[in-house]
Amino acid sequence: MKSALITGITGQDGAYLARMLLGKGYRVHGLLRRSASSDAIGERLRWLGIESDVVMLDADLMDLSSILRAVEMSRPDEVYNLAAQSFVKTSWTQPLLTGQVTGMGATNMLEAVRIAAPRARFYQASSSEMYGKIQAPVQDERTPFYPRSPYAAAKAFAHWMTVNYRESFGLHASSGILFNHESPLRGIEFVTRKITDAVARIRLGLADHVVLGNLDARRDWGHAADYVEAMWLMLQQEHADDYVVATGRSTSVREFCRLAFAHAGLDWERHVRVDAAHLRPAEVDVLHGDASKARRVLRWAPRITLEEMVAEMVEADLERLGGKGRRRVA
Ligand code: NDP
Ligand code: GDP
Repeated sequence: MKSALITGITGQDGAYLARMLLGKGYRVHGLLRRSASSDAIGERLRWLGIESDVVMLDADLMDLSSILRAVEMSRPDEVYNLAAQSFVKTSWTQPLLTGQVTGMGATNMLEAVRIAAPRARFYQASSSEMYGKIQAPVQDERTPFYPRSPYAAAKAFAHWMTVNYRESFGLHASSGILFNHESPLRGIEFVTRKITDAVARIRLGLADHVVLGNLDARRDWGHAADYVEAMWLMLQQEHADDYVVATGRSTSVREFCRLAFAHAGLDWERHVRVDAAHLRPAEVDVLHGDASKARRVLRWAPRITLEEMVAEMVEADLERLGGKGRRRVA
């Protein structure tokens, strides 16, 4: 039985990845950091019905000794480093913490693997945010980075450290440059989930409107359940490498609003307000990925369309809020 260690298992991607690996017969371990709100931890694993199937190990990415112990205890064949301070906006108010967790935390994981499990295959959760102020209209593995936030700068550092450990120490370390991916398990602070949660509240008469920032921003939105497959496929290759994972379709926040409100029979223009307080110090205006390499080498392709994902997210939020939505987790 193969063993996997997932940092960030309590997050969106960690939960979907854990479910996928359990389905493939892996023994799945995950890092769990201590929290005073421990009743809320594991909510995503509970949502997917796999909470009791994974082995949780007490560790924090900023505490090298704890992750070394986690690596020793799990004896992993594969390590997925998904843990991060992952919210771009927070990275301007907590830049040092973001650098420590999202940047140095990845180095801690690479060190732990190099010391305690050098034959394990390593996945780093890199991000399309690294392209920031885009240097090409469509971004692929050769497009230069131009990070526009402390989060993106920390991810760029972690990305290059992953490449560095591959080239310096021969680690089987791959970096997946994933474009935005969403799901019913997406954090509520991200714009997609903020919108679908608002749609459900408005539909159920619990709210009247939602306040957003830049409606012109465009993202290449995919579904997390599809994207965790690409992570796994990267670690099944003979040689480690870097891959862009994207749908190749870029959509505005405005259009996402239209789709989500329309799914609930609502007119978005009556319920969406804009407030400059939600604008960012520096914006990533548009992201649009080219995943040709992942299609060619990994034989990976997204299965779930944006429209299907929006419908699933709205239905899930209706269900959470006690409405009539049916639960359909992809
Ligand atoms: P989430 O924010 O949902 O999950 C982040 C995870 O990191 C949580 O499990 C969190 O634990 C954990 N974590 C945070 N700080 C620490 C720490 N100090 N020690 C240990 N664990 C910690 O992120 P996603 O699942 O959406 O994303 C997964 C990864 O992929 C992240 O690295 C993200 O930056 C990256 N990424 C995501 C994209 C997306 O669109 N979703 C796009 C590109 C990259 P806790 O539950 O305790 O807070
Ligand atoms: P990001 O791409 O990782 O920053 O993901 P987000 O979902 O946080 O933001 C995606 C885009 O939506 C960014 O360009 C934001 O500026 C824009 N956006 C517009 N209004 C909002 C809002 O109210 N909340 C968030 N999180 N983003 C918003």
